[in-house]
Amino acid sequence: RDVARRVADLTLDVPDFPQPGIMFKDLTPLFASGPDFAATVDTIVAHYGRDTFDVVAGIEARGFMIAAAVAYATGVGVVPVRKVGKLPRQTLRQTYALEYGEATLELHADAFMNGQRVLVVDDVLATGGTAEATLNLVEQAGGVVAGFTVLLELAFLKGRERLKPRSVHALLTV
Ligand code: IMP
Repeated sequence: RDVARRVADLTLDVPDFPQPGIMFKDLTPLFASGPDFAATVDTIVAHYGRDTFDVVAGIEARGFMIAAAVAYATGVGVVPVRKVGKLPRQTLRQTYALEYGEATLELHADAFMNGQRVLVVDDVLATGGTAEATLNLVEQAGGVVAGFTVLLELAFLKGRERLKPRSVHALLTV
């Protein structure tokens, strides 16, 4: 099976989560399947190649799982982008609008060396607000965004357009 098929087959639609009217895409079956998770990580590594990034950044919380695997597979380090109040030292912050309310993400201010190439990973691209805030944080911290990749892109929410001119790689777009 190709990797897009694996993602499609191992994603469950959960209606009305976390709120009424939202159809949540649950990727936990994909993470839980050894061969399928390995195939997703291998596909990300093959897409970017081993020499296009120096470090991987993962977005809390499911992004951490993918980021750690990609980092281990390529022998680079992994950096967490976290929800507000979790990182212990000096941080940079980005607040962005959600459908209801707002959210804040943080990154350690010294997370990257100047010019370090950062591959940013998350599980799902929806409206792109989370990704946009993260990419801004990476650049504020002196990193260069080498790429942004997700397992699943929800195209109807137009996150890819919001992130332009940065390019987005998705294993599956629905
Ligand atoms: P966005 O900021 O609207 O693009 O939402 C993306 C963020 O919310 C990512 O960190 C995802 O993990 C999470 N997210 C949004 N929708 C879903 C979903 O349907 N399934 C899993 N995660 C989601």
